[in-house]
Amino acid sequence: MSFTADILTLYPQMFPGPLGISLAGKALQNDIWSLNTHQIRDHALDKHHMVDDTPAGGGPGMVLKADVLARAIDAVSPANDTRPRLLMSPRGKVLDQQMVRDLSKGEGVIIVCGRFEGIDERVIEGRNLLEVSIGDYILSGGEPAALVMLDAIIRLLPGVMGSDLSEIEESFENGLLEHPHYTRPRDWEGRKIPEILLSGNHAAIKDWRFEQSRAITRARRPDLLNGVNKK
Ligand code: SAH
Repeated sequence: MSFTADILTLYPQMFPGPLGISLAGKALQNDIWSLNTHQIRDHALDKHHMVDDTPAGGGPGMVLKADVLARAIDAVSPANDTRPRLLMSPRGKVLDQQMVRDLSKGEGVIIVCGRFEGIDERVIEGRNLLEVSIGDYILSGGEPAALVMLDAIIRLLPGVMGSDLSEIEESFENGLLEHPHYTRPRDWEGRKIPEILLSGNHAAIKDWRFEQSRAITRARRPDLLNGVNKK
């Protein structure tokens, strides 16, 4: 069984988008993961296919209707579906590599993409939606957030990345930001590749990279070193 993503959106044409090319695109072709998009509007039963309405209590913008969205969710994800139902939302738990890793080990995900001011709170409760944010800023819709999250998950699926080693050495996999990289030429505009990397001494190179990782993490993201990740 491959990893299956079901996406509920008002803009299914945004998918697979960037996930249709390169690593994720090849994996999609090779059935390492599969993608189904669902138009939320197809579940609006009134003659104008209305998916949104004005906010109760007043205020600007529109709210995605509970009944329409719940019908869309029920059509895709029956009560016995074991996959997590995620709602992309700036109020959610901020996505990190640990969440990505956990999701990549499951059978797939249901992803609800919000639009407008957001969705009726009662669907979140009534359909057990888990809110996930991709960072402290506001997008115009959940679709780009879903693409970001899926990209991070898919590259961890077995058979997607060329070498498993390159995954382990990545930023965050050991709790640190990554060391700098260099490649030929040895001298570029007078800037040289650090001698140690050309020494052939693999133990020394490993130590140097670890020290660089620690220094960069200390300078840029001390929160990672302290283990007090406020996310
Ligand atoms: N009024 C809301 C923002 C709505 S933005 C608020 O102030 O919290 C419209 C939709 O974009 C949201 O429903 C959500 O699905 C998506 N979205 C916006 N920012 C996001 C983020 N940082 N992470 C994940 N999804 C986001």
